[in-house]
Amino acid sequence: MQNPEGHRQTLHEMSAALLDEGLIDQLEQFDLNDRANAAYWHAVEELQNSPGHYRGASTYDVVQIDNGKLLGTISRSIFNFANDQPLGASFAYDGKIYSDSDGIRLTLGLSRKVGTISGLVMEMNGRRYQLVETERMIAGVTHHPLSDADTYRALIDTAQVAQEERDLRAFEKVRPYIESAAFCICSACLDRFGARDDCPTCEGKGFVKKPALAVLR
Ligand SMILES: [Zn+2]
Repeated sequence: MQNPEGHRQTLHEMSAALLDEGLIDQLEQFDLNDRANAAYWHAVEELQNSPGHYRGASTYDVVQIDNGKLLGTISRSIFNFANDQPLGASFAYDGKIYSDSDGIRLTLGLSRKVGTISGLVMEMNGRRYQLVETERMIAGVTHHPLSDADTYRALIDTAQVAQEERDLRAFEKVRPYIESAAFCICSACLDRFGARDDCPTCEGKGFVKKPALAVLR
């Protein structure tokens, strides 16, 4: 599930509509909302334990992994080369991302070449490229990945408390910013109190720069 906040909101709107139509009573609405909330917590826990996913609402730099060269950018499913390669007469852009049951792939308009995307890595012509998120739409507003370490610390502290207290409102406000940030939780100490202080990987911070960014920048 790419957007658990949006999904939860949709389910709550549906139950409100069903109540309005008199198709369910208030108790049933409460039960439906409760299930939607439980599904939300389940989805975010899965997201926390999985590597990054391609998101249609995000903008990415497509960077060749072995040499760090910028191939192009993907913005809202549209791909354009970084350099000014001539466009075909009938193409307004260089390529497009398609997503279906077979997976996610980039199809280039002119050459008909196809790249396959899994996680945030694309393979095309035997080369591997990292997708580095540069912008994300959150609640209708474009944000750049959070890169301030103190703000990130404050956000993950807020999220941890909210998750423990099952405070949905607070948690779903901060989660998209944490997920799209330039940092991620340190995989060596997992930001656990005690283990964190002596952790050489994150130097006691509990989080590190995302691997893709550390390698490429
Ligand atoms: Zn650590």
